[in-house]
Amino acid sequence: MEQAELREWERRCVQEETPRCAAACPLHVDARTFCGLAEKGRWDKAWSVLARTLPLPGVLARLCEGPCRAECVRRDAGGAVDMPALERFCAGVAKPVSPPRPLPSRGKSVAVVGASMAGLAAAWELARRGFAVSLHCDVPGGALLSLPEDRIPYGALDVELENLRRLKVEVHAGLTANAELVRELRDTHDAVFVDPESLSPDELGCGMPDDLTLGTEFSGVFMGLPGESSFILQAAFGRRAANSIERFTQGVSMTAGRDHEGPYPSRLYTSLEGVAEAAPVPVTDEASARKEGARCIRCECMECVKHCVFLQNFKSYPKVYVRRIYNNESIVMGTRQANTMINSCMLCGLCETVCPEDFSMAEVCLEARRSMVDRGRMPASAHEFALRDMAFANGEKCALARHAPGHDSSEYVYFPGCQLTASDPGSVRAAYDDLRSRLGKVGLMLRCCNAPAHWAGRESLFRESMDALRHDWDFLGRPVIIAACPTCLQMLRDNLPEAEIQSHWAILRVLGPPRGADRCSVSLAVNDPCAARHDAPQREDVRAVLEQLGVETVDPALTGEMTECCGYGGLLAEANPELGMAAAEHRSRAASQDFVTYCAMCRDMFARAGKRAMHVYDLLYPCGDDSAQRPAPGYSARRENRARLRESLLMELWGGSAREREPFEDVVVAFTPEVSRLMEERRILQSDVQKVLLATGRSGKRFRNRKTGRFLAFHRPVAVTYWVEYEELETGYLVHRTWCHRMRLPGGDA
Ligand code: SF4
Ligand code: SF4
Ligand code: SF4
Repeated sequence: MEQAELREWERRCVQEETPRCAAACPLHVDARTFCGLAEKGRWDKAWSVLARTLPLPGVLARLCEGPCRAECVRRDAGGAVDMPALERFCAGVAKPVSPPRPLPSRGKSVAVVGASMAGLAAAWELARRGFAVSLHCDVPGGALLSLPEDRIPYGALDVELENLRRLKVEVHAGLTANAELVRELRDTHDAVFVDPESLSPDELGCGMPDDLTLGTEFSGVFMGLPGESSFILQAAFGRRAANSIERFTQGVSMTAGRDHEGPYPSRLYTSLEGVAEAAPVPVTDEASARKEGARCIRCECMECVKHCVFLQNFKSYPKVYVRRIYNNESIVMGTRQANTMINSCMLCGLCETVCPEDFSMAEVCLEARRSMVDRGRMPASAHEFALRDMAFANGEKCALARHAPGHDSSEYVYFPGCQLTASDPGSVRAAYDDLRSRLGKVGLMLRCCNAPAHWAGRESLFRESMDALRHDWDFLGRPVIIAACPTCLQMLRDNLPEAEIQSHWAILRVLGPPRGADRCSVSLAVNDPCAARHDAPQREDVRAVLEQLGVETVDPALTGEMTECCGYGGLLAEANPELGMAAAEHRSRAASQDFVTYCAMCRDMFARAGKRAMHVYDLLYPCGDDSAQRPAPGYSARRENRARLRESLLMELWGGSAREREPFEDVVVAFTPEVSRLMEERRILQSDVQKVLLATGRSGKRFRNRKTGRFLAFHRPVAVTYWVEYEELETGYLVHRTWCHRMRLPGGDA
């Protein structure tokens, strides 16, 4: 993926934006961290948060009017957090801290004329940045000295004036501020700042200072804007002037990149969903102060993370993930730490739906996968099994394209998809019979919609496979496609735009339920597959079909556009099986009722997670058993189901003969239950084991364990080496262990 593209994605995520209160604070106090510490009663720490940001904190923390409150997100859930009251309380109880240590001397001097809030703040800011600062005034403190004690306690100002001296600010008191004094100071210093409380622009004769830089018509002379009564804004003039003087003395741009110096609007989005209303707590003592601190909702976005098991699993958020992907892309050699993360996104699109900035982690991860494939950096193990499975579904044992028996053209073609065929071939057969009996010339296409190649980032394989699919459809005379799987529907609509494609549910909604359908008055939770997220008509058609069957439908916690993935999407279950199962278990908890869904992979993932779940086909074409209990077939059985369905259809509907069996299929093999479980986990098929046993039977290459009498053999049919530990029985073989890896052994295959 291009760097610029990644940077643009990174910019889009607002999670690291400043909270609205801190952006609105003229000095950008970190109110979120402060409140967190206040809630815990950690007042000394909380004070250090203020002292880090505020000049003369013992004064400002007591005098700030709190403009941050106007932007506080809590305002819409009971009332803004009373930051001024919390800061006042903190100033009264926290241990005082020393002023910040100044930076090394810059060898530049600045004179500050006037010592009210703006002048004192400018002197503080400049001194800590390493300027030699002299303060020229009548009395240090200016207007602050006349404030009553209930605004600023006796001695608080003296403490901060002493801190200014510790910052090495030279105080020259007893002076009258006038234009002449400013001119003299300008001639002997690198810059001058004038506090507007001591001298007006008219008195100085310099015109109004510039809003952004506070510069005047006199080069090197800066001044706060006159008439400002807010102490925090006066202090902000001091900081702004210090920034300008720093630029001025360095000879750099006076205007570039200053958008965030004063109050500015933040892009940070924070949802109030789940936040209970709570009115402000008057701060009178420590207990009430802690309660008020606890009302801060610690603003952040994290909307996508709240909704996604995958994003939660990697313990961060998309902005950080994009940086990791960027690092992955830029490493020429070596480990790629983000590989697992990139391959674990379910590509389900929920993040984009909930993100205020339409951030699509799916797009980012898919593009990153393509890039890994292009650079030869995609680990083979990530998707190999799924791609082999797709090849099998599109191969001669499973794929089929036929007109209805007795017809030489098709008005429609039924496209059940390879997962439904693998999961429940009986209902696919029943559905095809039903469609033919009611619509007539309905052909059949058995194959995969090629989603695995797309999800794996294998674009050329995907294009090639789509061409083969298009070829079959052309061969049938381009009939209307009836798709029974939401993923197939989506893939076909996106990649075969010339075709008219309908969902099976839309057809059934019009035709009504088939004869023999299970009319039951149960209450079921409808699980929308993520492939139907943006397909409202499909979702409505399914519900209408269920209603015709008498089912009372309820919606799980997140549904429709907001539905969650079952853990299979994007090949998560292949690339990161543990996380895939965690996602299935998580989704299973979205409703207490049994699920009914219209995606075979969703149904099987839920079955594996122990959730009672059925496919709509289970109701339309019932087999008599408790279908919500039907176990998910294992990987070997899935292949077998597809191949058998094709063979039986060919024989029964089109008068074909049974296909010739391959030699390995005659190898009789049995497995211990533990081996069967491990084979599922390791994606080893029964046919892989049979091929090893056939090969070793032919070559005689095998090892014998003298202690146990068992044999060990290996075989590398394609890119993977399979190992089998077995004992010979009279009628065949019993397998005790099997495993596989991608290393090639010297000496060749068994
Ligand atoms: S009370 Fe004042 S200093 Fe504190 S965060 Fe709010 S605006 Fe900033
Ligand atoms: S799994 Fe779905 S919600 Fe989570 S990041 Fe990927 S596309 Fe977004
Ligand atoms: S929803 Fe996620 S991606 Fe979007 S801004 Fe928030 S944290 Fe970033």
